[in-house]
Amino acid sequence: MKLAERVRNLAESATLAVSAKAARLRAEGIDVIGFGAGEPDFDTPTHIKKAALAAMNAGHTGYSKPASGIPAAKKAVCEKLSRENGLTYAPEQVIITAGGKMAVNLVMQALIDPGDEVIIPAPYWVSYPEMAKLCGGVPKVVNGREENDYKLTPNELRAALGPRTKLLIMNSPSNPSGVTYTADELRSLADVLDEHEMFVLSDEIYDRLVFNGQDSISFASISETTYRKTLTANAASKTYAMTGWRVGYVAGPTEIIKAMAKLQSQSTSGAATFNQHGLVEALTGDQSAVEEMRLEFQRRGRYMYKRLLGMAGVKCARPTGAFYCFPNLAATYARLGVAGSVEFADLLLEKGRVAVVPGVAFGFDGNVRLSFAASMKHIEEGLNRIEALLVP
Ligand code: PMP
Repeated sequence: MKLAERVRNLAESATLAVSAKAARLRAEGIDVIGFGAGEPDFDTPTHIKKAALAAMNAGHTGYSKPASGIPAAKKAVCEKLSRENGLTYAPEQVIITAGGKMAVNLVMQALIDPGDEVIIPAPYWVSYPEMAKLCGGVPKVVNGREENDYKLTPNELRAALGPRTKLLIMNSPSNPSGVTYTADELRSLADVLDEHEMFVLSDEIYDRLVFNGQDSISFASISETTYRKTLTANAASKTYAMTGWRVGYVAGPTEIIKAMAKLQSQSTSGAATFNQHGLVEALTGDQSAVEEMRLEFQRRGRYMYKRLLGMAGVKCARPTGAFYCFPNLAATYARLGVAGSVEFADLLLEKGRVAVVPGVAFGFDGNVRLSFAASMKHIEEGLNRIEALLVP
């Protein structure tokens, strides 16, 4: 059987591979601490579940009408973006998608032609390069420097731009590094883009999970020019512990949103209708659960970061958002007899019984990603085990 070329060249999700291996060990009765998860370890707040159940009981069980999202959800997204991000969008500038992944996917499908270049700052979320390639696009990966907390600089951006550049992907707070960009940093990147006919996909899925009193800044809010160029993507998944609901959204220039709506009408037909009612409640209802979860992530992140810094041969950028630490452990590889992050993660799983995601999946083979979407007890124990493995 000959499969289509696009699938033959597609990498499998490394995060899912780790979870599968950890699950296998657990099934054998081995106690494995999981730091691989890319989702909150909390349940969806009750008032959101109730709203979706009420919508279902009220008969909102048919197709999403229109497929681009029910009017109430688009309105709630407009209000959210205005209230929290200082962005003014009309409902026709918004599409509701089946999760954040589909939000990112549709932006690429609507914009990327074969041969178009997509600038992807690394370390990056695993799906960006693969999705760009699925559109025939050419990922232009720009490695962030550790000394700069892996953040893209104006000079690095300038050097990556070319006549075929179509899209830049920004992701702050970042998966996997947990770092965030300040308004000044975003402004200096925006200046470099000023004369370029291109677009920016700002993936802001972790925008409410920021620590230490800082604000989360939307790229579209930097200037009128960035507003015109930017597609702002987000989802209910991380903020409201709703990963299984599959509700995300994008706001941006009407013409692009319309193109995405066409694609959606010919593919998924949109997000589940009652889940969109859940999104409305999530965005407009009581926000206290978000703050509770944020404070808990902040507490765990601070602890994990401090512990990692205390380990021999480990360097780490301070997580200021999301729920990940992305330590560089390359200095320990030779001593442990491992060639890269995949072997390191394997060794850690087999000897230390801790599951982490190899950094190579995010473009950095010297690192691994640890999620702190786990209980404090597990975090303490998991870090004890990592430390025990690393002790010379
Ligand atoms: N963007 C980033 C940066 C993510 O980390 C994720 C989830 N891991 C997504 C998008 C996709 O989110 P969703 O689960 O809503 O599809």
